[in-house]
Amino acid sequence: MKVGPAVLLLDLTNHCNFRCEFCFQHGDLTARKGVMDTDLALRVIDQSVDAGIATEVATSVFGEALMHPEFFRIADHAVKRGLTVSVNTKGGTLDTETARRLFDVGVHTLIISLNTPDEKSWQVNHGPPGLDFAGHLRRIEQTLEQKVASGARTHVYLYAMNTHFSRPRGLAFIEDHATALKVLSEWREVCAGIASRHGKPLPPSLEQLAGGEDLVKRKWPVDQGVVLLPGIELVFKEGHMWGNRMLEPGLEVVPATRGFCPLPWVQVVVQWNGDCSICCLDYNRDFVVGNVRDMTVAEVFHGPALQQVRARMAAGHIDHPMCQACLGAVRDKATGEIVRRATASKLDRVLASVEKYGVSRSLSYLWRFVKEKGPGVSTFFNR
Ligand code: SF4
Repeated sequence: MKVGPAVLLLDLTNHCNFRCEFCFQHGDLTARKGVMDTDLALRVIDQSVDAGIATEVATSVFGEALMHPEFFRIADHAVKRGLTVSVNTKGGTLDTETARRLFDVGVHTLIISLNTPDEKSWQVNHGPPGLDFAGHLRRIEQTLEQKVASGARTHVYLYAMNTHFSRPRGLAFIEDHATALKVLSEWREVCAGIASRHGKPLPPSLEQLAGGEDLVKRKWPVDQGVVLLPGIELVFKEGHMWGNRMLEPGLEVVPATRGFCPLPWVQVVVQWNGDCSICCLDYNRDFVVGNVRDMTVAEVFHGPALQQVRARMAAGHIDHPMCQACLGAVRDKATGEIVRRATASKLDRVLASVEKYGVSRSLSYLWRFVKEKGPGVSTFFNR
């Protein structure tokens, strides 16, 4: 399989001003916390571009990137070096000035975590002092308004957590179509208000937006949601289990020792202290393959440690416990019944998809995928 071009995952900080109960920040993060040195961040960006390793950079990996004191300097540099820049924020530091700067600097993708849909479920987020649910929504709305008013090209995604298929730590938020439709209706209203204040076309009707499908059972293409306004989408994102480490109580992993994962070929993960992990799930720095304080990004990405991981995976071996858990099946501790199948092979993944979404949805998704990928689809399946 071809190595790169990769996404540079630059973890500017693993500090976060939330302690969401569905996240590793709520009690599972044992790695030391810190903030990346700005010179190191700029150097890593330069090296990634100069060596042709990355074409895009994600600035939020394990923490809240907007808490980095020089976030805008780093983002500006990445944009000027030609990288596609994304930011994923919980929204606790968003205000009109921050939103304006994000749009001005030319961030390509801004992902805002809405996560929990209402006042009651908001309680599990444990946000910064003084921020309540209404304040959280207000910050998001101001950001959307700023985007529309400024005509910024930044694509904004609102992520609402869909727990129909997986409940991180057993927490349930949006589980059925009716709840999802309510959330969609609320954000449609918000966007309609913004559009009318700025003389823009209103969003389509709720029925048109929902498209006659069950919103929580729909198989969404990666990071595509309902388009509320041009460049503003609501995504019903499946609950993230962080490689089966946020399991529901009563469940356990059956580790997979055989299988394959493409991520070591297509990601470079640089933690705030320069450690490089094999993938974006390694919040505790358990699987480190180098450090960019004493190596270049190219030396890590093409170096012996990562080559060894790739060679073993290409031969079908999954050696590290983090990967074994991530690709493993999940079973009920009491009954021994498998409740989620392993995702270690392509066949596993196809069967898991059919189990979750049914045959017709899986086929229609495959057809859409083939159409979108065009001639590139054979490359993808040959990986
Ligand atoms: S298998 Fe390993 S490399 Fe792949 S996503 Fe899981 S933890 Fe990351």
